[in-house]
Amino acid sequence: MKGICILGATGSIGVSTLDVVARHPNLYKVIALTANNNIDLLYEQCLVHHPEYAVVVDKTKALAFSEKIKDSVIADVNVLSGAESLEFVSTLDSVDSVMAAIVGAAGLLPSLAAAKAGKIILLANKEALVMSGDIFMQAVADSGAQLLPIDSEHNAIFQCMPAGYTSGMRAKQARRILLTASGGPFREMPIEQLINVTPAQAVAHPNWDMGRKISVDSATMMNKGLEMIEACILFAMRPDQIQVVIHPQSIIHSMVDYIDGTVLAQMGNPDMRVPIAYSMAWPERFESGVEPLNIFDVRCMDFEEPNLERFPCLRLAYKAINLGGIIPTVLNAANEIAVEAFLNEQVRFTDIPLIIERCMDQFEVIPADTLAVILEADQQARVVSKQVISELAH
Ligand code: NAD
Ligand code: MG
Repeated sequence: MKGICILGATGSIGVSTLDVVARHPNLYKVIALTANNNIDLLYEQCLVHHPEYAVVVDKTKALAFSEKIKDSVIADVNVLSGAESLEFVSTLDSVDSVMAAIVGAAGLLPSLAAAKAGKIILLANKEALVMSGDIFMQAVADSGAQLLPIDSEHNAIFQCMPAGYTSGMRAKQARRILLTASGGPFREMPIEQLINVTPAQAVAHPNWDMGRKISVDSATMMNKGLEMIEACILFAMRPDQIQVVIHPQSIIHSMVDYIDGTVLAQMGNPDMRVPIAYSMAWPERFESGVEPLNIFDVRCMDFEEPNLERFPCLRLAYKAINLGGIIPTVLNAANEIAVEAFLNEQVRFTDIPLIIERCMDQFEVIPADTLAVILEADQQARVVSKQVISELAH
């Protein structure tokens, strides 16, 4: 029986994880669930899974949550608040596995704490890895933690790696990674119309049901840019060894191209419970609740090269990793600010790459060798991006 802590339990990945957990009550016990502020969903989840700890980061909401459970059957759940409580629950002795499913930079410290504590880390929070690549992988190596990727593409690549492969290893026989992308909702929209895209259109992804931030990232293809960086870190590959492939059907979730000409692909219905269940059962497999793939329904699979004029965010991600140091952290922070401004209808869809590039151009490349440097770059980039946004004349 493994103890699991789910960081970001109320999000899209968190909900899918609990769905898988519920199918294996003899294998997993929920120790801690965390939420930013959605206490109604957290309450429902606590009723079903009865964790030892519930973290509500927002202090006012945490008080309301304590009040809500006071006279209920879950009155004995320990309620904590504040960002520091996330690190506390991700390093508890009773926790074996940590699902890192907070969105954005907010997930870095608790995910890194789990890495340092030698936990099994089920990593969905790609932003944390983009920011802290070397430090994160070093922490995993030093503590003997096990890092299993949840992002569907990286999970697919991991599954296509040679026997005995662990994250961070360089698989010498692997020549290239073919990182698949759906192309999002605007793959075929005339480029000049992108300027009028609304938040509602951007979050309506054709194949995947996800949180709002990653849905916008998929529409701009910054998601694939972040994933390219994530792949370089997880699989010790160079950026030029990662080929992004647009595959609109989302049946193949990525491929590994070997030196002998073999290409291995992982396929399945697009449902995050597949990579979640794979990582939870690893090195075995167990049921995920996902419908078997009906290969006759697939009929055809298309593959296209991405157009960097349509998707400038992908170009910016290559620029960031090639510059290195703190620049991927700057890219990530500027993207978070730009996406938030777009979702709040303060800037246009096409302003997102503009804001990010203007922000990136204001930073010197310095090595991202300490956590302090990374957190400082993250904060500075947020300030600079907000400045860039206020200077945009509409
Ligand atoms: P989501 O927006 O649905 O959920 C985010 C979760 O993080 C929520 O539980 C929220 O309470 C919590 N959270 C948000 N801000 C927080 C803060 N400041 N402090 C603490 N907690 C906070 O997001 P999601 O779609 O589940 O994505 C989560 C992560 O997984 C992201 O990094 C995303 O890139 C990655 N991912 C998601 C999918 C997917 O299908 N949804 C696929 C691959 C990777
Ligand atoms: Mg993905």
